[in-house]
Amino acid sequence: MDPALDSLPSQPRVFVLTGAGISAESGIPTFRGVDGLWRGHAIESVATPEAFARDPFLVWSFYSERREGARDKEPNAAHLALARLEERIQDRFFLCTQNVDPLHERAGSRRVAHMHGRLFETRCSDPECARPPYPDEGTYTRREDLPRCTVCGALARPHICWFGEMPFELETIFAALEACDLCLVVGTSGVVQPAAGFVLAAAARGAVTIYVGPEDPGNAEAFASIVRGPAAVALPPLLEAIAQR
Ligand code: NAD
Ligand code: ZN
Repeated sequence: MDPALDSLPSQPRVFVLTGAGISAESGIPTFRGVDGLWRGHAIESVATPEAFARDPFLVWSFYSERREGARDKEPNAAHLALARLEERIQDRFFLCTQNVDPLHERAGSRRVAHMHGRLFETRCSDPECARPPYPDEGTYTRREDLPRCTVCGALARPHICWFGEMPFELETIFAALEACDLCLVVGTSGVVQPAAGFVLAAAARGAVTIYVGPEDPGNAEAFASIVRGPAAVALPPLLEAIAQR
């Protein structure tokens, strides 16, 4: 098994960060996998507050397609192995995902910090409005059908952290990083902050750091070990070895 695991204490506290790559084998493409384009638009130009202010229908069309695309997708062996590890080590496990899809929950993970939001939730676009985000599976395909907040009447928006916005749950996430013995990162390019910096925060405190994915991430030099392979193949045996510690 991975020699980096040898320096773990017994009963380690495990912090896991997952990215779009973990859902690729379930049939939800990464943005990079589609060359960062949707209908000829750069995805970075659709997933922004400015795009929503300019053309909310365009933005809702994009997220309506993402909802359609994720609706019937099943978790793969990597999501399932993470849910199993949580079941076994309980409070010593913390899962943070950059994904907005619900595949970790469908696999049985119980506590998931969705730092970039949730695809199947909607919220009021007015930050002053008191209505909290709410579950919404809707797809909006006609300009006149865009959803509105039932409290204040403003347009509703996807509950997603767009480019240029502050990710959710950072306080809880950094507290878990502070406490971890192992920081395991799966299927993310390691170039988008603040998530790309998590491994540095963990390494600075002496935690073991491992990356799992088919190619080196942008922040590869920050990891003690890189396990190359698709998540559904490479992750389950690694998690099994961690559970044995
Ligand atoms: P990203 O920057 O995390 O890049 C995807 C990474 O996945 C790449 O590093 C690639 O090497 C890796 N990868 C590809 N196939 C893999 C596999 N089988 N196993 C493990 N790793 C694999 O993500 P992005 O696509 O640029 O997306 C940016 C942001 O957009 C995400 O952080 C997320 O918020 C959102 N997004 C979410 C989803 C989702 O919820 N499933 C999908 C696409 C994008
Ligand atoms: Zn409102």
